[in-house]
Amino acid sequence: MENKKIKILAIDDNRDNLITLKAIISEVIPQSVVYAEESGQRGIESARKNNPDVILLDIIMPVMDGYQVCKTLKADEQLSETPIIFLTALTGDKQSRILALEAGGEAFLAKPIDATELKAQILAMLKIKEAAAYKRNEKLRLEELVKKQTEELVNANIAALNLLEDLNAEIEIRKQSEEELKISKELLSETESIGKVGGWSFNIDTMEQKWTDEVYRIHEVEISSSPSVDAGINYYTNESRPIINKAVQRAIEHGENYDLELEIITAKGNTRAVHTIGKADLKNRRINGFFQDITEHKRAEEKLKLLNRAVEASSVAVEITDAEGNINYVNPFFTELTGYSYEEARGKNPRFLKSGNHPKEFYKDLWDNILSGKDWTGEFQNKKKNGELYWVKAVITPILNSNGKVANFVAIKEDITQSKKILQELIAAKLKAEESDQLKTSFLHNISHEIRTPLNSIVGFSEILTDPNLVPDVRRHFSDIIVKSSDQLLSIINDIISISTIEAGQEKLVLKNTNVNSKCKLIYEQFSVRAKNNNTTLRFDTPLADSDATILLDETKFMQILTNLLDNAFKYISQGHVYFGYNLKNDFLEFYVEDTGIGIHSDMHEEIFKRFRQVEVLDNRQYGGSGLGLSISKAYVELHGGEIWLKSEIGKGSVFYFTVPYKLEKQDSNSENQIVNEITLANNTPITVLIAEDEDFNFMLVEELLSVSNFNIIRVINGFEAVEICKTNKNIDLILMDIKMPLMDGYEATKQIKQFLPNLPIIAQTACSTEADKNKALTAGCDDFISKPFKQVQLISKIIEKTNKK
Ligand code: ADP
Repeated sequence: MENKKIKILAIDDNRDNLITLKAIISEVIPQSVVYAEESGQRGIESARKNNPDVILLDIIMPVMDGYQVCKTLKADEQLSETPIIFLTALTGDKQSRILALEAGGEAFLAKPIDATELKAQILAMLKIKEAAAYKRNEKLRLEELVKKQTEELVNANIAALNLLEDLNAEIEIRKQSEEELKISKELLSETESIGKVGGWSFNIDTMEQKWTDEVYRIHEVEISSSPSVDAGINYYTNESRPIINKAVQRAIEHGENYDLELEIITAKGNTRAVHTIGKADLKNRRINGFFQDITEHKRAEEKLKLLNRAVEASSVAVEITDAEGNINYVNPFFTELTGYSYEEARGKNPRFLKSGNHPKEFYKDLWDNILSGKDWTGEFQNKKKNGELYWVKAVITPILNSNGKVANFVAIKEDITQSKKILQELIAAKLKAEESDQLKTSFLHNISHEIRTPLNSIVGFSEILTDPNLVPDVRRHFSDIIVKSSDQLLSIINDIISISTIEAGQEKLVLKNTNVNSKCKLIYEQFSVRAKNNNTTLRFDTPLADSDATILLDETKFMQILTNLLDNAFKYISQGHVYFGYNLKNDFLEFYVEDTGIGIHSDMHEEIFKRFRQVEVLDNRQYGGSGLGLSISKAYVELHGGEIWLKSEIGKGSVFYFTVPYKLEKQDSNSENQIVNEITLANNTPITVLIAEDEDFNFMLVEELLSVSNFNIIRVINGFEAVEICKTNKNIDLILMDIKMPLMDGYEATKQIKQFLPNLPIIAQTACSTEADKNKALTAGCDDFISKPFKQVQLISKIIEKTNKK
């Protein structure tokens, strides 16, 4: 303060007063600077500008009086503490002083100014200001201190809080970890129990063992009890214990790990399959490992193995495809059935097995079904690798994944080819049986009618013939009727025998060179009388030269075919013509028999070839017949490798055709032609025939038949006599050997005679006319066979044929 100038502002509207004031101040306070201002406004400005230490302020001034100036200055923050000394005119003016104090002034000086008082006042004011400044500074300092301390306190608090928070967090974390640890422990235990796998650790030195919960559970031991090393080993079965002992030993001694599947018996006595893995940690002197209950797994594995074996060994084909239908697996039977190996089938769509015999809709239905998750069951035909077709009964099952989508298809296919075939055959056989049953019933009716008719005539007329008074002509007429009826009966019986042999599948061809021209001629001759009686023209045509007309045929059967057809032609004709003959067509001779008879409705063109089938129904039949002729003919034609058919129109007539293979044979010198000729010309050189026949009636019949020609006849009545006479009589040219005879039968006699006269022709004659009988006779050594009763032409032609060959 000593050095510093004291700045004093004096405000008074009276300049003289100001000068006086200035002079006094300079005098009493030499170290001062005085700013003098003549108005309140200017005084305020100066105060703001110079920041005086003391202000001397006059009260009465124009525009702005001293009170106003004082108020303005005190309201100014910068100047509010600057001491203001009012300069009053009147010393005792109390009112002015109150106003001055209210306005904020600090002191008063009465005019005229006393220098000493002024100085004292100013200095006092300065002191007050100084004290105020100090006070203010002190306050500020204190405030600052308080603020600083508060801040420090706050900071300390914050730090403490943070610390607390950290602490809490740490506590929380610890809590959490404890919780997590608990959870993980539980989780581990649960996981172990689900996976049925536990862990264990074994201290090599202390032999102390640690088990996790699951290891206890697998052993069915209380979790709290601590296991001893022995106990662990002791649970193993007698078979497994030595294995685990050895493994543990090697782990301890050589640090070798082990991985074994063994068996234990639990504390509760249950046997369990276990998987134990041991890892030796010799550095830490431990063996650590896993222990797993694989009982279920083993069982499943066994089951799977069993299933697999079942599928592999199964006798049904199993195919497994993916969702697109491409094959993933086929079992060995699939290969056996289809011929395709697993490698060939893998990755392919099973459509490569398609036979092409099912329509598209069939497969569409199949796919619609299985794609919608349903099973499909059905039968279809497939094709093997070798092209062969086969039938299967299939069950196709879609296998869905956990999302319910089709993941695979399993097809199980049973080969039903054989059973289907059998079933079809059975059905056909059943139908056939039913049909033939029906036919047989109608046949029986029919046949009894057919048999009864001639039989009635035979019985009836035979009785009449016994009347001694009969006129010879009538007698002859009745005899004729009896003969005709017998023929008719015989033909029916022959037909029945033939059809039985055909049905039994025993009918065989006996092929020999046959001249079809001469056969046609023979037939013509046989039927010409009938044609004449019938008023019908009979004609035949054989376009081949005789030399080209000899072919390989079963002569008897061929003759029967033609005879049957001509028989029918005459049976169903009332007038017109019957033409027959043949034409050479390719490698076949096509025979025909044409008539102008009643004709056959087209519905029946195939039917009439079936056994016992006749166009007429039984009740109104007017034509005789067994209904067997055409079926026998058909069977015989087919045996020859030919066909039989017809063309016909109702009311106009019918043409029957049949074919036989044209197999040209070399002309035989002993051809049928010649034989027929020889019969007609009759033989000049007598032929000696030995007739071995025990029945008198039969002998007489043969004797009668042979009487037309030049034959010498000798008779014996059994086989024995036959053999004996052959030994002595060297004139015998041929023997007609009956088979059934007393003492020695025909077979035996033939055998014996052939031993010493191998070239002597022997013709067997018997009532049994089956192919088997015939064969038996031929095996015994007979040269031919003729069934009783025989026709004259047949008998003579056979005798001539055989004796000529001799
Ligand atoms: P059937 O002994 O009855 O004549 P077939 O088997 O010979 O037996 O003939 C069967 C049927 O075919 C005959 O019953 C007849 O109805 C018919 N049939 C055969 N041949 C002729 C033909 N030439 N004209 C008309 N019908 C015929």
